[in-house]
Amino acid sequence: MKIVDPATEEEIAFIEPGEVGPVVENAKRAFASWRRVSPGDRAKLLRRFASVIDAHIDELAAIEVRNAGHTQGNARWEAGNVRDLLDYYSGAPERLCGLQIPVAGGWDVTFHEPLGVVGVIVPWNFPMPIAAWGFAPALAAGNTVIIKPAELTPLTALRIGELALEAGLPEGVLTVLTGPGSVTGRELVSHPDVRKICFTGSVEVGKQIMAACAPDLTRVTLELGGKAATVLFADANLEKAAAALPGAVFDNAGQDCCARSRLLVERSVHDEFLALLEPHVRNWRCGTDMGPLISAAQRERVASYVDNPLMQGSAPHGKGYWFPATVLAAGPGDRHWREEVFGPVLSVMPFDSESEAIRLANDTEFGLSGSIWTRNLGRAMRVSRAVEAGVLSVNSHSSVRYWTPFGGVKQSGLGRELGPDAPLAFTDTKNVFISEED
Ligand code: NDP
Repeated sequence: MKIVDPATEEEIAFIEPGEVGPVVENAKRAFASWRRVSPGDRAKLLRRFASVIDAHIDELAAIEVRNAGHTQGNARWEAGNVRDLLDYYSGAPERLCGLQIPVAGGWDVTFHEPLGVVGVIVPWNFPMPIAAWGFAPALAAGNTVIIKPAELTPLTALRIGELALEAGLPEGVLTVLTGPGSVTGRELVSHPDVRKICFTGSVEVGKQIMAACAPDLTRVTLELGGKAATVLFADANLEKAAAALPGAVFDNAGQDCCARSRLLVERSVHDEFLALLEPHVRNWRCGTDMGPLISAAQRERVASYVDNPLMQGSAPHGKGYWFPATVLAAGPGDRHWREEVFGPVLSVMPFDSESEAIRLANDTEFGLSGSIWTRNLGRAMRVSRAVEAGVLSVNSHSSVRYWTPFGGVKQSGLGRELGPDAPLAFTDTKNVFISEED
């Protein structure tokens, strides 16, 4: 597999695809001993893994800048996020407490048993964090993990796999399996010894994976697309909202399932808000604020949505898959309003009432994230409860924080990742009744 720097179009590596059978066999063998590592020792190993990652932040960030085209600042944050996830979930092995349930005639206790081999299938938009959202809690709960990185962006995952060994994780506990999704990914999902798949990517492939998991009842978590709306009321802090919005939609060149790609703005402040937004859009710079799109195909796809922009930043010409920050006026039937563009494109539509804003925000097959901007607390809560999405923020654009649960409703996915309960999603509850009679 030829690996290309999307900022220069230079070939930077050549990777051989791995073989699914031996990798799963190895992970299965490692599981037998990893599940027996005492909780305290497993916690120590995860903490050591976190410090090895910490010592390699610059190296991992440099790899991601070249492989995924991320900005230096983003790539460093992403490597730091892997460290933080390992630190956070290193608290879990010693806290995976079951219940003692009062019953007649004896005692009843529950255990959180690890599932076995877990496959984490990762897309190209955030290769490091998305891999760690799966592997950190899965390892903490006593599973072994196989990461299947995206074909375009395997380099940081391969290095993280090496660092896991350097930190002392036994061989086979965390393995990286490269190869095309349509072959390697498909085979991994259907392997009878893989007990859970965590998938992040497109809705179409997510549905195929869910179907492929059915024959063996393989557990599955799906983090799919999004079409997040910012609902901006006239009483909001408009200057603050205008300054924050470009980061929320154009960061990572909009290749983010939580990108606030739709703006619903109350009609009475529509023109004023766009005037406040314009300088921030024009100043959103390629190279420092966002990188290129991941591939020529992605740039072509994004460009197909753009016609007659309301405002647009600039992008370098020549080599690299650059695309400028773009704002479009939208009507309810427009493709760019309805489909996940996955590029730096914001679609704007006015609304006249709270109920209309809620109806328009929910008029989508997706339901991952969104933002509500208002100074009216009652309205903020009413709208938060009415918008069909898994992760909402008020007067802020935050979505993914490892302390809090993350995931979507409707076609945006199934199950939740992150937050304090994530390790439980990598276990099955076992219930044991002990009779008081011998
Ligand atoms: P895909 O859904 O095709 O890929 C995501 C991951 O799944 C990759 O590792 C891919 O491997 C793997 N994969 C692909 N097919 C299979 C399969 N049949 N069985 C198992 N694994 C498989 O996303 P794309 O990269 O094609 O992106 C297309 C669109 O999807 C984007 O434009 C965007 O709209 C959306 N998307 C959403 C993401 C999100 O964060 N929710 C992330 C990425 C994309 P390989 O790369 O080798 O094909």
